[in-house]
Amino acid sequence: MSDTVVMVLFALIGAVLGSFLNVAILRWPAEESVVRPRSRCPGCGSAIAWYDNVPVLSWLILRGRCRSCSRRISVQYPVIELTVALTWLGMALWQGPGLEAVRGSLLFTILLGIAVIDARHRVIPDQLSLGGALVAVALAAWPGGFPLVGALVGGVVAYGLMWLVKLGGEALLRKPALGVGDIHMMAMVGAFLGLPGGLLTVLLGSVLGLAIGVPLAGLRGDLKALGTYLPLGTFLALGAAVTYVWGDALLAWYLQVAMPA
Ligand SMILES: [Zn+2]
Repeated sequence: MSDTVVMVLFALIGAVLGSFLNVAILRWPAEESVVRPRSRCPGCGSAIAWYDNVPVLSWLILRGRCRSCSRRISVQYPVIELTVALTWLGMALWQGPGLEAVRGSLLFTILLGIAVIDARHRVIPDQLSLGGALVAVALAAWPGGFPLVGALVGGVVAYGLMWLVKLGGEALLRKPALGVGDIHMMAMVGAFLGLPGGLLTVLLGSVLGLAIGVPLAGLRGDLKALGTYLPLGTFLALGAAVTYVWGDALLAWYLQVAMPA
């Protein structure tokens, strides 16, 4: 296969996964199956035919309206499909169309799902967090990619450390700290990025959360309620994406500053 064909294939896989992610974003927070029932228009209840379900194209052809009742279809659908398609294409262009591009693309697809669902519902479905951790370990077991030991240590230690933070925080503050969803999510991130990457993700996610969340809470004049409208998973997802792209450079810079030769 020529490189161009493989690149197009990456973009197509991304579009299809983006389409699946749309269904997951809608159904997993409500603990519904993504397989059954088939997608229906929430306006008129008519089943959506396969040709009206083609990523991005169908929305454009239908001009964002249901074929039967003309009810508006959210622009979120084509935006997510296009974002995931471009992510897969971009990753293949950057990493070369191989195992690492698949790994990075899957990580970003999972992170996007978590970021959107946590921002909207304040939950992180285990299908994405724990399911994603399994995907990361399976990919690391593949020879020639991210080391299996790194994935296992990263996942298990990140998971354990997050539990320590939760239990320690609750003993000190005497109120709930950290959701189990965030802990499961960090097992996934640790398995994808290894332990240093997992730790950097927590650091970046917390800094981003404070930098964006505190002014937001301040605007509403309610700093105490910060935790209730701070979707930590969304910020951790951002932190993990930054770590995947710039993690090595950030860690090298940090070591140089902390321990100058
Ligand atoms: Zn309809």
